[in-house]
Amino acid sequence: MSAPRTIIVAGAGIGGLTTSLALAAKGFRVINLEKAERLEEAGAGLQLSPNASRVLIDLGLAGRLAQRAIVPDAVTVMSARTGRALVRLPLGDAAGARAGAPYWVIHRADLQAALEAQVNAHPSIDLRLGCRFEDFANDVHGVSIGHRCRAERRQDSALALIGADGIWSTVRGKLFPTAQPRFSGLIAWRGTVEAKALPQRAALAGVQLWMGPDAHLVVYPISGGRLVNLVAIVADDWRREGWSAPGDARDIQRRFAAAGWASAARLLIDSVENWKRWALFAMPDGGVWTAGSTALLGDAAHGMLPFAAQGAGMAIEDAAVLAKCLGESHGADASNAALPVAASLQRYAQARSARVARVQRLARQNGGIYHLKGPIALARDLAMQALGGERLLARQNWIYDWRA
Ligand SMILES: Cc1cc2nc3c(=O)[nH]c(=O)nc-3n(C[C@H](O)[C@H](O)[C@H](O)COP(=O)(O)OP(=O)(O)OC[C@H]3O[C@@H](n4cnc5c(N)ncnc54)[C@H](O)[C@@H]3O)c2cc1C
Repeated sequence: MSAPRTIIVAGAGIGGLTTSLALAAKGFRVINLEKAERLEEAGAGLQLSPNASRVLIDLGLAGRLAQRAIVPDAVTVMSARTGRALVRLPLGDAAGARAGAPYWVIHRADLQAALEAQVNAHPSIDLRLGCRFEDFANDVHGVSIGHRCRAERRQDSALALIGADGIWSTVRGKLFPTAQPRFSGLIAWRGTVEAKALPQRAALAGVQLWMGPDAHLVVYPISGGRLVNLVAIVADDWRREGWSAPGDARDIQRRFAAAGWASAARLLIDSVENWKRWALFAMPDGGVWTAGSTALLGDAAHGMLPFAAQGAGMAIEDAAVLAKCLGESHGADASNAALPVAASLQRYAQARSARVARVQRLARQNGGIYHLKGPIALARDLAMQALGGERLLARQNWIYDWRA
């Protein structure tokens, strides 16, 4: 049997690790199950906007992250047709000061390593690698959770179970078997290249977003500027589950050449030797995230297209709100101890659903706008230039200014 105030979190991705830290900060004991034997890099770079970096800083991660993250000077929107900059959205320290927290770009492995180190240093968190969540049943303590650690089947009781086990969530499969991710018809090619391998004219101090017909390309520095991260999004019907199928460099090079992309973009594409492909799946908007003493979080609840760069950001926000709601009713300093766990989890889902659905919609809209072609693409370019970088950036304030 587990100690009182124990919560089990299934999945130790960015969402699960942040949730463990946020719950532990409210006085809970946390068991964090992760099926992988080691937490390894899943993907390459990640943009973390102030709404997310603020939560991580509040959890005490500033020291571990600031030395590894880069503050990009701007997001520069580039035309795949002309190779020229269309508009520059200024970030840098000024944008961070306005929002009260930095805009970071970081290697996922660096973020995951910082979170794991913080989790391992916390006496109330038991991170169990190589342990796969299998099933659960309601019991007198809340939930009884069955999991398999290597060959051994184990059972633990907890106040609540949080499914942070990603877009192919087993917890969601048990709770809501008909809620399934849908294929978007798009795939992401991801790769990195040593910055010093690029010609001087390709040097990057910020994020570049290249827009072209039926495709876009995002490029930014990571790992203290040593590496450059590339994500190319193209239409395709290849739809394998998972995160790391290799891609043939010649295939992606040919696509961008055939579509007439400017040489500066193709130079970046051609510089990457090892590509990985991800088929982009998303959960439908407005799903149900909680039942009884169990709740979903991050991609398990609302896996979205990555075109607002907010999937991890929303998982991090979820973690802060979930810990706040559970902390108020069952934490070390509970102010509303009469509230059952199930009601606290419902408050969490209610607090999150409208905002997350708005971000899911924005991500889809962005994808449509980035991939326009023909005269309407020219009209888009002119409209963006007329609006200007400052005003385009201000349109994101509702995302960046969020607080738990
Ligand atoms: C191309 C691309 C670019 C992106 N760029 C950005 C960006 O710039 N900014 C941003 O904020 N977001 C971005 N995202 C989104 C972001 O990567 C995801 O939203 C985020 O990683 C989700 O985190 P998670 O913890 O919810 O899920 P995951 O990262 O999928 O973690 C789930 C964890 O659960 C584990 N697990 C699964 N099943 C079980 C089980 N049965 N038992 C135990 N453990 C289990 C898995 O091994 C995994 O470790 C991008 C996504 C893509 C595809």
